[in-house]
Amino acid sequence: MSRSIQPPASERIVSLLRDVIDPELGSNIVDLGMVKGVSISNDGNVGVTIALTTLGCPLRAQIQRDVKDRIATLDGVAGVKINWSELTAEEKSRTMSIARKNVASQTPDTEIPLTTRVLLVSSGKGGVGKSSIAVNLAVALASGGRCVGLLDADIWGYSVPRMLGISGRLEGATDQKKILPTTLEMGDGVLKVVSMGLLVDDEKTALMWRGLILNRAVRHFLEDVLWGSMDFLLVDMPPGTGDVQMGVAKLLPRAEMIIVTTPSRSVQNVAARAARMGRNNYLRIAGVIENMTIFTSDDGAEHALFGSGGGESLAAEIGVPFLGHVPIDPAVTPSSDEGRPFVLKDGAAAEAVRAVARQLAAETVPAGVMGRCSAHLLADRLGDAARPAEAAESPVRIG
Ligand code: ADP
Repeated sequence: MSRSIQPPASERIVSLLRDVIDPELGSNIVDLGMVKGVSISNDGNVGVTIALTTLGCPLRAQIQRDVKDRIATLDGVAGVKINWSELTAEEKSRTMSIARKNVASQTPDTEIPLTTRVLLVSSGKGGVGKSSIAVNLAVALASGGRCVGLLDADIWGYSVPRMLGISGRLEGATDQKKILPTTLEMGDGVLKVVSMGLLVDDEKTALMWRGLILNRAVRHFLEDVLWGSMDFLLVDMPPGTGDVQMGVAKLLPRAEMIIVTTPSRSVQNVAARAARMGRNNYLRIAGVIENMTIFTSDDGAEHALFGSGGGESLAAEIGVPFLGHVPIDPAVTPSSDEGRPFVLKDGAAAEAVRAVARQLAAETVPAGVMGRCSAHLLADRLGDAARPAEAAESPVRIG
């Protein structure tokens, strides 16, 4: 790598680390006193020393990913190395006291708990299967026992209610000016859904919202919906629009993107643009999913109808994990039209999406089992204030 670009200053790195939230303590790792040092060598190698409440903290991998990905967005960075240490008893008590104060004084701008992993399902252009992947990934995560929010931010092209077979109107919370999501029980998990399609009477009315308040509508969904606790929030992003992405990135700086692309080269190029735009907004990219990979005909022959390799080469090009291929499956469209997500049935596409969900679930510590580090200490001292408020919901069972 040419070293004509200067390595970033340590202040810049520290300021980015303020976006890394300790999911358990609900504050950023800098304010919590966990960042013990930052070093930058002339050749752009960055070293960060982070002290954890305990070295065996299950959140370590998540913090490591967040730190590395944030720093890697900076020009002039050749590599990132994290050195781990443990807070001393005295430091730990100071950290806990900061966390306690932050939780007590927090008036969150959004209703999304700090412990929720936010995944913005994005694509460069429409028609690549972004909504199908967002909905079915959310259903797969919920069926696997997680509490999952699904926000349809594709305001004028909303398709989430149809794909889930739900209709009707979102209800207001009693005695509050907030909205309750439509809540669906799925296996051992729960799916909470919000879409413009559950607010307006028809697509024509939705079209009137176009542009005018698109950004404000998404903000409204993040601020005024009583989401309650969630392990994941999946957002079906409108294709290729920078405005909404910038708005979400400001409100939820810890959000990550999942880029959906097809095997075709031209789609790969627009998807790369979407990824670049995300990085300009300091969004971490969790990975790439290639949809519509291969069609297998009844005689077992495989047909690469849309080319091949676009997803993997995009992941390599932007330096993020490749999360998996989802094949072309004739069951996908009828399932969406019937309102029964294909991931609940057998089939090649279903198995592929379940595999991605398993991978995401494996790398995400559930909000409810964080007590292994220090959340229990915080919860003991704070009582219910440490836990996000649960919306008063009456779940509906589908699937
Ligand atoms: P986007 O949100 O990117 O506009 P959609 O999810 O609406 O895309 O999908 C576009 C069309 O492609 C829909 O008709 C959908 O049913 C179909 N589709 C998506 N993924 C697949 C797949 N893996 N196999 C077959 N059809 C698919």
